[in-house]
Amino acid sequence: MKTRVGLRIDVDTLRGTRKGVPALLDLLARHQVRATFFFSVGPDNMGRHLWRLVRPAFLVKMFRTKAAGLYGWDILLKGTLCPGPVIGEKSPEPMCRAAKEGHEVGLHAWDHHRWQINVEKLDTAAVAREIRKGYELLEKIIGRAPDCFAAPAWKVTPQALSALEQFPFRFESNCRGTTPFYPVIDRRCYCHPQIPTTLPTYDELVGRQCTPENYNDHLLSLIQPGRFNVLTIHAEAEGIICLDLFDDFLSRAGQRKIGFAPLGEVYAGIPEIEISYMTQATAPGREGWISCQDVLSEPCAHLEELSR
Ligand SMILES: [Zn+2]
Repeated sequence: MKTRVGLRIDVDTLRGTRKGVPALLDLLARHQVRATFFFSVGPDNMGRHLWRLVRPAFLVKMFRTKAAGLYGWDILLKGTLCPGPVIGEKSPEPMCRAAKEGHEVGLHAWDHHRWQINVEKLDTAAVAREIRKGYELLEKIIGRAPDCFAAPAWKVTPQALSALEQFPFRFESNCRGTTPFYPVIDRRCYCHPQIPTTLPTYDELVGRQCTPENYNDHLLSLIQPGRFNVLTIHAEAEGIICLDLFDDFLSRAGQRKIGFAPLGEVYAGIPEIEISYMTQATAPGREGWISCQDVLSEPCAHLEELSR
């Protein structure tokens, strides 16, 4: 039986959009793979984000993953001195190309940096304004409304989930977990299904459990038939410095009869979506908290009590 993996590609920066996305599109075409691209379309202030994190733990990670090589010095400095460039205005072509070539295209962020450091402080209206700006610009670029969303850094709050409900997204991919689910927080169930990322990312594994040399072996060993599998890669990593590594991964996955699909197709094939709690957790190798499907709690026993 063929094992299927949902492939999600996050694009956080101008450099990832300009350089990583075209390289990935060429690679995916060669392997006849389709994926879901989640684009950040507003100001690229990611340099601010990376410098803000200059703390001992982050420095260790910088050296471990050779961050300057992974992100590029232009990303590290972007937005630190002046407001970052609006990615969707500077470089809309790769977004159009992804849509034209049959990939699913969703919204990742207006301002990735702002979401990542601030989402806990934003109320529903402020998050909705942020999403609206990204939604409208991406719609203009690809000629149709984006119908899915993936939260930056796997961070959502109840306010953010309420804001997201104001948009006609078919599904969202805001967290880590094991199976698609409708999220419940504080006894409220949200109406957009979540397609969680199930596998760790490159920067979470390399330098801890893996070296670049044995990374693909390890990642392939984590993809199990009969399980729900979603892999997230980054245009800034797998599209640039890890491109050859990802090429090798796709070749070897093909030999093992592992197929890839956009998240919307994986989601469409699920007969029934369960309801799970969503909580905050930490992931090894990742800074700060992330949203996570709570697989340890009992699934909601009193559905009738939940307001939707
Ligand atoms: Zn991101």
